[in-house]
This record gives sequence, C-alpha cells and structure tokens, in this order.
Amino acid sequence: MLNVPIMPTIIDVIDIVFVALLLYGTYKLMKSSGGLSVFLGVISFVALWVLVSYVFEMKLMGAIMDKFISVGAIALIVLFQNEIKRFLVMLGSRRRWQPMTSLFSSRKQDASKTDHWVMQIVLACQDMSKQKTGALIVLENKVVLDDYVKSGEILDATISGRLLKNIFFKNSPLHDGAVIICKDRIKAAACVLPVAHDENLPKELGLRHRAALGLAQVTDAKVIVVSEETGRISLAFKGAINQKLSIEDLERLLTEVH
Ligand code: ATP
Ligand code: MG
Repeated sequence: MLNVPIMPTIIDVIDIVFVALLLYGTYKLMKSSGGLSVFLGVISFVALWVLVSYVFEMKLMGAIMDKFISVGAIALIVLFQNEIKRFLVMLGSRRRWQPMTSLFSSRKQDASKTDHWVMQIVLACQDMSKQKTGALIVLENKVVLDDYVKSGEILDATISGRLLKNIFFKNSPLHDGAVIICKDRIKAAACVLPVAHDENLPKELGLRHRAALGLAQVTDAKVIVVSEETGRISLAFKGAINQKLSIEDLERLLTEVH
C-alpha cells in the first residue's frame, strides 16, 4: 500500500484558525460573565465524548453520551441566553464597524476630553454618594442604545457634573430612570432599562441595581448606580455588577478601554 502523506489544504488551515478563534472568543465571553467553570466543564465533556465514541468506539456509553450532547446544546442556549444575546447584539451593532471607517476619517477621540468628562461623572457620583442621591448612569459603548434613549427625555447636552446632579436631585421631574451618555453627550434622562430577573441576585438589590445589571447583560454598556439607601456606588458591565466601589475604582473602571 502506498503511504501518501496527507497535506492540509489552505481551507483546512482557515477552518482550524476559525475554530481556534471561536473557542478563544467563547472562553473570553465566559470568563467575563462568570461562566468559565461551565465552559471548562462542557469542553471536558466533549473531549470525553470524542474519546468514548470515536477513539475507543464504546457503543453503549457512546449512545448515552450522544443523547446528552443533543439535549445539552439546547440546555446551553437556555443557560447562556444573555451572553448569546449580548454577543449577537454586539456583532450587529453599527458602532462595531466604525473603527474601520474611522481609519479614513479624522474623528478621533481626544484623550484629554475623555478624561475631562470621566472626571465630571466621577465627581458627580462622589457628591451624590455622600448626599445619598440615587442615580443610574449608562455609558454607551459599541452597542448603540437608541431604543433605550427613545424611552426617556432627549437632552443632548454637554456632560457636566452639575447637570447630572440636577437631573438626579430628589423630586426633579427627570430623576426617575436612567441617564444615557453617548460619546461625550448626555443624550437622554428618565430612560427605562431592562430589568434583570435572575433569582439568585441578593435580595437587597432593588430595581435600580437590577436595571443596571439588566442592561449590562444584553449590551456592552457600563452602568453606574449610586444607591439612594446606602450611598454606595456600583458598576454593572458585561453581565456582572461590581458593588461598593471607591471613587478611585470607579474612575479606573470608567477609563479602562474595552
Ligand atoms: P437604592 O439602593 O437606590 O434604593 P435599589 O436597587 O434598591 O436602589 P429601588 O429602591 O427599587 O432600587 O429604586 C427604584 C428606582 O430605580 C426608581 O425610582 C427608578 O428611578 C429606578 N428604576 C427602577 N426600575 C428601572 C428601570 N427599569 N429602568 C430605569 N430605572 C429604573
Ligand atoms: Mg431601594
């Protein structure tokens, strides 16, 4: 018998690169949303299934594991529905493709300008935290938040700490709901966000915190919460909420580019 070496074609190489990228993307997504152990469990199960069914060709065990694989795919979709939703929304988001077009345009974000408005937000949050003024501030990222902007009052104002404090001042007509900031503009106030329904959330997290988490589960926005009850500052991002942040933490997390 002739021993012909099997040469991988260019399509095989592209195929392998795509699978590697897919696995790496899933790994990163799971890591950021706290589902890493589930991801590693799934990978281990699939590796075991390949060994049992294809390497050792165990018929009975293979048949049982085949059933788990087909049901498991549906279970995973249900389990990770928020991550899948966020991934698809990000993939389809208009702004995701903007870096490519901006290579040819001169509209580059000015770093010092960004620092200035981050400071305006951080200082406003510090004051509201001290005064126990409840606040909910959304910073749009790559996913466009037009639908949520439309649910509130359009302002389209320059970012200013004093304006933020004024909006959230108790009894001000716009204090209920969220402020949405797009790039360097306060786009809207009194916006309604989707509420997270997870049963395992701590009971002390009320609707304001759940609304912040809810939006962070389905988009890539950063959502700041100042608690009216405790004055504590939290930040929801990528499906998780970081509570009890110091002002320095908040500044760092807002400045980090994702
Ligand atoms: P706090 O610690 O400030 O009390 P909390 O997490 O306990 O916050 P609630 O006390 O229930 O939350 O806060 C209610 C306020 O949260 C509402 O007055 C409203 O301003 C805001 N809020 C509630 N649901 C939403 C929503 N879906 N979208 C935007 N804002 C919301
Ligand atoms: Mg409350």
